[in-house]
Amino acid sequence: MTETTPTPADPADPSAESGRASRIAFLGLGHMGLPMAANLVAAGYDVAGFDVVPAALDAARAAGIPVADDAVTAASGARIVITMFPSGAHLLRAYRGEEDGPGLLAAAEPGTLFLDCSTITVEESREAAEAALSAGHRSADAPVSGGVVGAEAGTLTFMVGADEADLPQLMPLLEVMGRKIVHCGAHGAGQAAKICNNMILGASMIVSSEAFVLGEKLGLTHQALFDVISTASGQCWSVTTNCPVPGPVPTSPANRDYRPGFAGALMAKDLGLALAALESTGVAAEIGPAAAAIYQRYAAGEGATRDFSGIITDIRDASAGGSAADGAASGDAGVGG
Ligand code: NAD
Repeated sequence: MTETTPTPADPADPSAESGRASRIAFLGLGHMGLPMAANLVAAGYDVAGFDVVPAALDAARAAGIPVADDAVTAASGARIVITMFPSGAHLLRAYRGEEDGPGLLAAAEPGTLFLDCSTITVEESREAAEAALSAGHRSADAPVSGGVVGAEAGTLTFMVGADEADLPQLMPLLEVMGRKIVHCGAHGAGQAAKICNNMILGASMIVSSEAFVLGEKLGLTHQALFDVISTASGQCWSVTTNCPVPGPVPTSPANRDYRPGFAGALMAKDLGLALAALESTGVAAEIGPAAAAIYQRYAAGEGATRDFSGIITDIRDASAGGSAADGAASGDAGVGG
């Protein structure tokens, strides 16, 4: 695994190659894709964006991103095709085309670098890479963490699965959109790393929330418990940065009634991908599947659009019948949600 320290990209010469109408096709201009593409435009890259939703195209134009008439037109003029789609099914369909039209792989000139930043299964990612390579192109997966805030600020973390030979072309682009880029290995390795990380994140948020509710029952203030956990062996991002109770970390979503942040629907999706990988590899996991089931339930209700740390309210509600110790924490530290 290789970690790189970002160096400033050279906007005047994103690549040594030239002579194409649009050097980067950016497809999928949603919550994440739009600010990522806008950062490339701001850095001087020649971008042609496209999204199947007209409102997304309007928003892209308003953000100064040039848009193409359709995805195939954008890809046919590009050296690099970046995708930021909801799922692997969207990606494979776009690559291969449908009955009524050709796909991106057929439209692009041979040797085009297909860079997928969506979060999809490892299998879909490898399938997409194989399809791109068999069509005479190059391929990389680079899912992200950091959310919309990181996409806007250009501070995403990219987990990259790619051939070493393609890194020199990839890095300057990724460094515009992100702050930390980790080359995890060959095709699909970026998705694998993302899924493993988010399985830890989902499980750690659940158990941290359980600990805070237990602390409430035992009469601990949120602040006292935070002060211990954040400097003791229970320390984790779910407590120190995204603390599920309001107060100890003023920027955590708990302080704004669990407005995301990272929505429950996205956590449920990522844990679903982890579950598929656990099953296909035969790993004898118990916590990961339990976390996936808990977040599927959470995302089936209003948790879909709330931050994933709002799971604490479900845990607290389900614990309402138990006895609380005298002087429980809620009055002191403020129980959210
Ligand atoms: P989104 O739904 O807002 O955006 C996806 C866009 O892709 C949509 O606008 C959709 O119309 C477009 N699209 C679908 N098929 C297309 C096609 N064939 N051609 C052109 N456009 C097409 O989703 P998002 O929140 O931007 O997330 C994108 C990806 O990033 C997902 O895989 C998600 O899991 C991942 N991700 C999201 C976050 C987050 O905080 N939102 C964080 C990390 C990773």
